[in-house]
Amino acid sequence: MKTALVIGGGIAGASAAYFLSGLGVQVTVIDAGVHAASAVPSALINPVRGQSGGVDARATDGMALTWALLQTLTAAGFDIPYGQTGVLRPIPDDKARARFERNLPPTLAHRWLGRDGLPTPLPPAWAHALWLPEGGWVDGAAFTRALLAASGARVIRGRVTAWTAHSAQLQEAAVDALPDVHTVLHCGGSVGSGWAGEARTHRMGSLLTLDRAATAVPLSFGAYLAPAAAGGVLGATYETPVQRWPTPELPLASLGWLLGKGDGLADLSGVGVTGRWTGSRLSGLQNGQDERGVWHLSGLGSKGFLLGPLLARELAGRVTGSLA
Ligand SMILES: Cc1cc2nc3c(=O)[nH]c(=O)nc-3n(C[C@H](O)[C@H](O)[C@H](O)COP(=O)(O)OP(=O)(O)OC[C@H]3O[C@@H](n4cnc5c(N)ncnc54)[C@H](O)[C@@H]3O)c2cc1C
Repeated sequence: MKTALVIGGGIAGASAAYFLSGLGVQVTVIDAGVHAASAVPSALINPVRGQSGGVDARATDGMALTWALLQTLTAAGFDIPYGQTGVLRPIPDDKARARFERNLPPTLAHRWLGRDGLPTPLPPAWAHALWLPEGGWVDGAAFTRALLAASGARVIRGRVTAWTAHSAQLQEAAVDALPDVHTVLHCGGSVGSGWAGEARTHRMGSLLTLDRAATAVPLSFGAYLAPAAAGGVLGATYETPVQRWPTPELPLASLGWLLGKGDGLADLSGVGVTGRWTGSRLSGLQNGQDERGVWHLSGLGSKGFLLGPLLARELAGRVTGSLA
């Protein structure tokens, strides 16, 4: 039987483990279990990105696979809070609407809504509203956990400090636990890139957890409001991009910015803040084999749950093809 070692158990590593196992590979995942961006309490499945309205060419396929996986895992008994609710994008002005319209492919389900057709009220300052019926939200930690468990992979808690195409070394020197494997995949996300000493682009952001969902469906422009397992969230990745992994923190000025953005999206009176979660995401997709023969899936940016499973499924196919 072919064997693979996956470094990192976020959505990239867990999806890779799931699809590799499905292709008959025996997988071991080594995960440090810290600073995973995939632990985000509520992530949007949002095919129309940011304030530019860009749509990734794989967005529709990625979204379909993510929903299909969630349905399969839920039917298998995994408890994953998620909602295939649709996503509402409030748009501030005609110029922004024109930009979004230019980017929207006809194949992506969408509708421009008038004020009387909104699924949730919007403050009057928003000029337009774009409804994406196939979007929604998911509890990132629960989804990732379920994929890992369903993969049947052996999971080792620990940090890998060195690796080749066929071996890896744990920080805690339990070298015996790691026999050589046929192939190694590195899916370490933002923190893993930092530990590897790479100079790549990291962007930090925070979510405030709320005692109730401020809106029935996710709202996103600049920041997002979304339902979550317990109540809701208000969040964004909005700190200045940096070239080194930053220790996750929420500067006070950023807290003010985030609350202002939230107030602009919906009436938050009576909504209580119960906590916060801060993480860092890595940009610059790396998806393939490096010159040393190590496979990589990282740099999923803000599309980890939109594209991560799809890209992992494709990568698993390439990896097993190379082992044949
Ligand atoms: C505030 C915020 C909001 C976001 N919102 C959304 C959203 O709405 N929609 C969306 O799709 N995406 C969103 N994202 C992005 C998404 O979270 C990421 O794209 C995705 O989680 C990245 O997954 P990953 O598996 O590549 O990395 P991670 O989830 O970071 O996982 C990497 C794992 O590998 C482990 N690791 C790293 N190096 C090693 C090593 N050497 N040895 C052992 N283990 C190691 C780490 O400890 C970690 O557990 C958001 C991100 C943030 C920060």
